[in-house]
Amino acid sequence: MFIGHIAVAFGAKKYAPQVSLGVLFLACQLADIIWPNLVLLGIESVTVEPGITAITPLNFIHYPYSHSLIAMTIWALLFAALYVGLQRAGTRVAVVIALVVASHWLLDFVTHRPDMPITFSAATRVGLGLWNYPVAAIVTELSLFAAGIWIYVRQTQAKNRAGSIGLWSLVIFLLVIYGANLAGPPPPSATAVAWSAQAFWLVVAWGFWLDRHRTSRD
Ligand SMILES: [Zn+2]
Repeated sequence: MFIGHIAVAFGAKKYAPQVSLGVLFLACQLADIIWPNLVLLGIESVTVEPGITAITPLNFIHYPYSHSLIAMTIWALLFAALYVGLQRAGTRVAVVIALVVASHWLLDFVTHRPDMPITFSAATRVGLGLWNYPVAAIVTELSLFAAGIWIYVRQTQAKNRAGSIGLWSLVIFLLVIYGANLAGPPPPSATAVAWSAQAFWLVVAWGFWLDRHRTSRD
């Protein structure tokens, strides 16, 4: 899942308006920010196997430190604690941020084939396999994305032209990336996958920038 995760970040703005959209982008994709680096370090592994699911050609062989339920619970608590420590935010904000980080596991659990580890040992791996049902997977992901954007647009308003152009160009950019991933050829290698995943930092930077050009409606 890609834009479905980002939908959670947009929607979370309603529940923690003071938290920058950039922080929420970091939170929703924290697992997929950690993961490519662990792949490049050789600690986690993925291979490209076209046909392994109808949607993604990635075979997630070993990723308990970025994607197990226990690891993501720990990352959620650490990230929320770090934010609260740096920003002196309250409990409500901490809970929202932790839930956004943890939501990544839940959404991946729905989409991935049974490759999502529960613990570090990865003895039990689960997944509902929505990626084997392309139409349902795409409809689910686009619906989530639309709902997230809708909540965000009702919660915030542009302070200036950059605030509206920046938002809608980001929405189009994310949809184009999603479409290109669906329609494009499989990536040439696991290393290529890991490097291209680093492009998410651009979206994070966009979130921080956009947040300064929009304000809460209430
Ligand atoms: Zn993931």
